Order: sequence, then C-alpha cells, then structure tokens
Amino acid sequence: CGIVGYLGTRDAYPIIIEGLKRLEYRGYDSAGIALFDGTDLKVCKTKGKVSDLETLASKEITKHGNVGIGHTRWATHGVPNDVNSHPHISNSGDLVIIHNGIIENYDSLKQELKSRGYTFKSDTDTEVLINLIEDVKKQENVKLGKAVQIALNQVIGAYAIAVFDKNKPEEVVIARLGSPLAVGVGEDEFFIASDASPFLEYTKNAIYLEDEEMAIIRFHKGIKVRKIKDDSIVPAYVQELQL
Ligand code: GLU
Repeated sequence: CGIVGYLGTRDAYPIIIEGLKRLEYRGYDSAGIALFDGTDLKVCKTKGKVSDLETLASKEITKHGNVGIGHTRWATHGVPNDVNSHPHISNSGDLVIIHNGIIENYDSLKQELKSRGYTFKSDTDTEVLINLIEDVKKQENVKLGKAVQIALNQVIGAYAIAVFDKNKPEEVVIARLGSPLAVGVGEDEFFIASDASPFLEYTKNAIYLEDEEMAIIRFHKGIKVRKIKDDSIVPAYVQELQL
C-alpha cells in the first residue's frame, strides 16, 4: 500500500503513476487516482495493478491537472474490488481522500453518520473517515485542515492520509499515525509520498511527518505542520536527501 500526491505547476498524473510504481514493493491489490483538472474532480480506480489503472485512465479521464492524489490499496476492510479502491469521495462530492492504515472504530462512526443521513458506496473504513471529515466541516463550520484534525481526534486506528476539497484545490491536507509520510518540497511544488522514492528526481528537500502530526500544504504559500492532538505548531524540519 502506498500514497503519492502532487500540488504544483506540472501535470500531476505522470508523477503520481510513476510514484505508485516505485511504491509497488509495498504490496497492493488495487490502485486509483484523483485529479483536479482545473474545473472538476476526476477519479479513476480499479482492482489490479498500476498498469491496469493506466489502461483505464487512458479511456476514462483526461490526464491533465496540477493537483492529484494516488493510492495503492492493501485491503483491510472490504474485499479488493473497484468500488472499495481508493480514492474515496464524500457524500457531497467535494472531498476526496486516500488512506493507508485502519480506522478501528469505523463501524460506530458509520452508524452515527448513517443516522444523520450519510450513505456509503463501499465497505471501507476510509469512506467513513472522509464523510466524518465532511460532517465535522459542515457542523463546526471550519476549514478543511481543522475538520481533518477534529475528525482524527475521534478516530482510533492507524493512518497516513491525504485529503483535498475540489472547491479549494490549491490546498492538500495530510496526516500520519503509524504509517509513513514524506513531503518533497520543490520550487512552488510539493510531492507527498509514503517514502521519498517518488520525488527523488524532482527535489532533494524532504519533510518527514512524525506520528501524530498533520500538515496543511498550500500552493504558493508553503507547508504548516501541526500536532493532531492540539494546536501546537511543529517546525517543518527540511532534510536534505542523500542520494
Ligand atoms: N483500510 C483501508 C482499506 O481497506 C486502507 C488499506 C490500505 O492501507 O491500503 O481500504
């Protein structure tokens, strides 16, 4: 299972696909990608290999867009199939997520969301998390980063996640607890990945999130790292990658 994301000025698609291939060693049963093409959100996902995703994407989506997230899945909740593959979208269609890990209390969260009218397409714990984030965002009337933080404080489990809102595609929110997550920092561009291999050729500067940290990444503005548990800001420590 692996995560790759891009936010910058290049086409995100080839960077994400190549990145997912470099993370293939981590093992997976499905692959998917979400791109913001300048107007709308495009999602393409399938059971199988990254090469199967490429074949499908050639038929289904335009591959242009400067913001995107991609995923290889190792199923824990819900069988490996197209619908259970990531990315997952919230009920409104606005928020999109990729997730490595397990949300242990997904069932009680799911029942509560169902009682408030939320519906679910997949059997995954991940689709519960993105709808929880959406629910918090609406109920509390907060920005995406805050909504992710509040939602994660209700979650028991392990995760590396990347989330964005198609209405605000210049921002990607990421968080980690128990699964690795690195951010490559280029010139006016950011790479998100489970390890540095997807972005080694683009930048030597990386920030590794620690457990219980989240980051809000904004195009043109930079990256802010925070603790998930409280509002304390963590200095974003940029490491130079040794090749
Ligand atoms: N628990 C999630 C699922 O089953 C994520 C699995 C993964 O780490 O790839 O879809």
